Amino acid sequence: MDTRVKQTLHHYIGGKKVQSDGGRFGDVYNPATGEVTTLVPLASADETRAAIASAAAALPAWSATPPAKRAQVMFKFRELVYANMDEIAQLVSAEHGKTIEDAKGSIQRGVEVVEFACGIPQLLKGDYSEGVASGVDMYNVRQPVGVCAGITPFNFPAMVPMWMFPVAIACGNTFILKPSEKDPSCPLRLAELMTEAGLPDGVLNVVNGDKESVDTLLTDPRVDAISFVGSTQIGEYIYQTGCANNKRVQALCGAKNHMVVMPDADLDQAVDATMGAAYGSAGERCMAISVVVAVGDETADQLIEKLTPKIKGLKVGSYTDASTEMGPLVTPAHCEKVHGYVDKGVAEGAELVIDGRGHSVAGHENGAFIGGCLFDKVKPSMSIYTDEIFGPVLCVVRVDTYDEAEKLVTEHEYGNGAAIFTRDGDCARAFTTNVQIGMVGVNVPIPVPVAYHSFGGWKRSLFGDHHIHGMEGVRFYTRMKTITARWPSGIRDGAVFNFRSGSE
Ligand code: NAD
Repeated sequence: MDTRVKQTLHHYIGGKKVQSDGGRFGDVYNPATGEVTTLVPLASADETRAAIASAAAALPAWSATPPAKRAQVMFKFRELVYANMDEIAQLVSAEHGKTIEDAKGSIQRGVEVVEFACGIPQLLKGDYSEGVASGVDMYNVRQPVGVCAGITPFNFPAMVPMWMFPVAIACGNTFILKPSEKDPSCPLRLAELMTEAGLPDGVLNVVNGDKESVDTLLTDPRVDAISFVGSTQIGEYIYQTGCANNKRVQALCGAKNHMVVMPDADLDQAVDATMGAAYGSAGERCMAISVVVAVGDETADQLIEKLTPKIKGLKVGSYTDASTEMGPLVTPAHCEKVHGYVDKGVAEGAELVIDGRGHSVAGHENGAFIGGCLFDKVKPSMSIYTDEIFGPVLCVVRVDTYDEAEKLVTEHEYGNGAAIFTRDGDCARAFTTNVQIGMVGVNVPIPVPVAYHSFGGWKRSLFGDHHIHGMEGVRFYTRMKTITARWPSGIRDGAVFNFRSGSE
């Protein structure tokens, strides 16, 4: 074993920790120190198949368990997450780098999905039509899809898995989670808590890994449905490969979220909103604002004047310092990538108003830090505008009219979130009606739907037909069955050879 690291992780299969026998491991960093703290096993195809076998074996009994009993596990799991909140937040922050308060907020958003899943008996109720023909009744039920898999990104190691497995499991499915190999400790802990909450062994399994285990999940015929959250490049591959293997797939992907600021907006409100939305979690959020579209030069000038001291004053540091507002990026490699984008923005001719490159934090000189960056006069052809940077780099694009702003938002390849800041109801209504975006905010910078609504983008931010959690989640993780029943005492009308209308 590598002597630099404190621990080697495992998989969680059949309700137990399972040590890897595959021999491949990945490095997990503490991004605030730049040190490798943990080795994560990268599952072989055989290890992944063991998790699939475990989920498949647990399926018949779990899908036959009454929904109210499944809900009881969710109620207990919710309690356990709250009871262990400090420990879980610590696991998230130590591997992701975000502040403890931010980690707790994201865990809370995940728990809200668990709370939604507690209502599963009500959510699974079907509908019934009496007497659709003489002596004939018809009803719909929603049954579990089967063995489901979830492949999740690094940026929300608690919340994104909890967008998936609570709803899937409450619906009667069994589940295999393949979390990000960059911060795998929190998902493993959540699986242990599900066992402690009374979940039967094998209903939730966690297999750590990379492409090899993902490809096994995508092609194994025992897996029925795949939920993916991550980058567009990988998500499109997951969607196409999963569909080619006859699986139901939802793939929620990358983003470039615009915030349009109209000249009549409350600029102080818009500036505060921009600070949190662009620099919170170091910009590593799929709903982060990465582009401000300022309508009119005066609006742009005022925004930049107000933003500048706030960005320069951002407290960048380790999650271990309670006064930190923005932590490091997830790994040194990601930090280098974000630095590279800032270099490109300068080379492409954008005006770098605030340069966060080379930001050093005393006592954490090897940490993956970059300070907040602000570009002005960004053009739509520049890579800092077209690409998702996934770091604390905000681009200001100047336009002259609302119509130009709407066109920009609509024409961008991503369609996750967008916001407009204005006091003009007509303008806000035009925006919410016309933009080709899945989640839209009016004077709300990060319009993330609550757990009982559903989360999802448009265009190349989502492949598949279903958004995630809320009723869309229930629909994704269930199949509809429609039953038409006639009882022997019904009217006898002899053999019928012709198709009949429903009114007969
Ligand atoms: P990523 O695409 O690199 O990884 C996501 C998952 O895919 C991980 O579990 C990873 O192990 C796996 N993976 C990586 N390469 C693979 C390959 N070649 N074949 C098969 N599987 C592979 O994403 P990330 O860097 O962990 O997360 C950041 C991305 O996630 C950003 O693009 C962000 O916008 C996106 N994201 C989207 C949403 C949303 O709801 N739309 C939410 C959170 C994050």
